[in-house]
Amino acid sequence: MSNNTSFDIIIVGSGHAGSCTAIAASDAGMKRILIVEKGPEGWVGGNGYFTAGAHRTVHGGLPDLLPLVTNVSAEQASQIDVEPYTAEQFTSDIMRLGQDKPDAALVKALVDGSRDAVQWLANRVKVPYTLAFNRQAYLVNGRQKFWGGLALSTRDGGKGLIETHRKALKEAGVETWFDTPAVEILLDGDAVSGLVVRKTGELVELHARAVVLACGGYEASRDLRKKYMGGNWDLAKVRGTPYNTGDGITLATAIGAALKGDFGGCHSTCWDANAPSDTGDRALSNQFTKSGYPLGLMLNAQGHRFVDEGEDFRNYTYAKFGRAILEQPGGFAFQVWDSRATKWLRDEEYGDGVVRKIWADSIEELAGRLQHEGLEDEAQFIQTIAHFNQAASQFQLAHPTAQWDPAVKDSLSTQGSGLSPPKSNWAMPIEQGPFLAVKVACGITFTFGGLAVDPDTAGVLSESSGKPIRGLFCTGELVGGLFYSNYPGGSGLTGGAVFARKAAREAAKLL
Ligand SMILES: Cc1cc2nc3c(=O)[nH]c(=O)nc-3n(C[C@H](O)[C@H](O)[C@H](O)COP(=O)(O)OP(=O)(O)OC[C@H]3O[C@@H](n4cnc5c(N)ncnc54)[C@H](O)[C@@H]3O)c2cc1C
Repeated sequence: MSNNTSFDIIIVGSGHAGSCTAIAASDAGMKRILIVEKGPEGWVGGNGYFTAGAHRTVHGGLPDLLPLVTNVSAEQASQIDVEPYTAEQFTSDIMRLGQDKPDAALVKALVDGSRDAVQWLANRVKVPYTLAFNRQAYLVNGRQKFWGGLALSTRDGGKGLIETHRKALKEAGVETWFDTPAVEILLDGDAVSGLVVRKTGELVELHARAVVLACGGYEASRDLRKKYMGGNWDLAKVRGTPYNTGDGITLATAIGAALKGDFGGCHSTCWDANAPSDTGDRALSNQFTKSGYPLGLMLNAQGHRFVDEGEDFRNYTYAKFGRAILEQPGGFAFQVWDSRATKWLRDEEYGDGVVRKIWADSIEELAGRLQHEGLEDEAQFIQTIAHFNQAASQFQLAHPTAQWDPAVKDSLSTQGSGLSPPKSNWAMPIEQGPFLAVKVACGITFTFGGLAVDPDTAGVLSESSGKPIRGLFCTGELVGGLFYSNYPGGSGLTGGAVFARKAAREAAKLL
């Protein structure tokens, strides 16, 4: 840690968005670049470290993606199907999942900047992209079929992503001060002039004409979750860093920044009920995720289903089903599969030693075992599965040519039976033992409410003037107005890079 107090740009947060900003600032000619990070060095990378490294981008299909990735041989390439993903599809996914509430200009900035940002990450930062066979494709009839508009991941997920960033930051001469939270933004008139940080217990004034807030949302603050989201959100389990406690909102609003977005909403998923509560685990990281529900059923403590598990691909439902689980009695649920589906479950999430698995040879026996895990109504659990099986079998009888296929929305459903909630795809009766259940809770990933920013410059807008506050920028999770209620998987990392590059370019103009 140097004793400099004067910088060209100061970035708050060492996650993916903060790291992208610092590297882009170096590209833009800035020399004295500082990242201040609240957590210790062992927690570098914030939530970015916990990600799967999934990046959603507009692309032209396999030929467009192949030059970016490092894990596909020419021979393998001939057995892979990746459909192009257009700007219209990306836009419509965000708007559809957000019930048309997302800010159209922000969404356009993200979508239009996505492909270029990914190219920059690959070329400049040297992010080791891979095609995500393990998460986003199924092997069907000898071909790897990608589904859900998302194909890119990074080698070693978030761990690999953050390691790559650290290397690039070092090469660019960027300093990072750990254990150094930002506590106040300094103003000279109405322009930003620096930041106060707490460094080795002392308050220290740092000077810079540009400050970029990349310090995440408020998902790790029980109090702010309760305040903004109500209900029993204080009980949700934190999936990532414990340091994202809403500081960016506090810092920016103290100098008159405007808030924007869905403060009652968040990204929350099916998460191992036995995972820690207030922090992610840097060893198991994202492996607590439990996203195999489209191939099975989810039942609550009273033995009832509560969502359409097959409503859409996992990418389009996983971010809202955490909330649905939290709303159930006791805030937990059981995921259940029969032996035909268990072999499709991903090892990272459901492998031996990763999650506690409850096996049984019959549904009755399974219900008995689940009583020890909190199932209150054994008879209802058995009846719910029986009703589902009846509905799924009826549909199959009426549609004998329909094929179960996890790589497409196969329309194998419970339609016509009146089952509520229905299962709209992948509805295969749960009837061939052995049967598997795992207990899941709600894991909160990040919050949707944040700061209002200018879509072209990532400048933070003033509450009173509606114009950017000179010298203050924002990127990553903290940008408000992009996502409402739900979120298409892989958009967060891409968005962080897009707005980081805009912020760095604009900040360079202030020098
Ligand atoms: C388990 C998990 C899996 C995910 N998987 C994906 C995925 O595959 N693809 C995807 O697109 N998104 C994914 N996400 C979401 C993704 O993490 C975010 O979109 C992205 O990483 C946010 O980047 P960020 O830099 O804004 O925030 P973060 O990476 O969280 O970084 C914020 C940093 O700011 C620091 N900080 C906080 N307050 C202060 C302060 N006062 N002073 C200084 N520093 C401060 C924090 O300690 C933290 O290091 C996942 C998230 C989790 C938790």
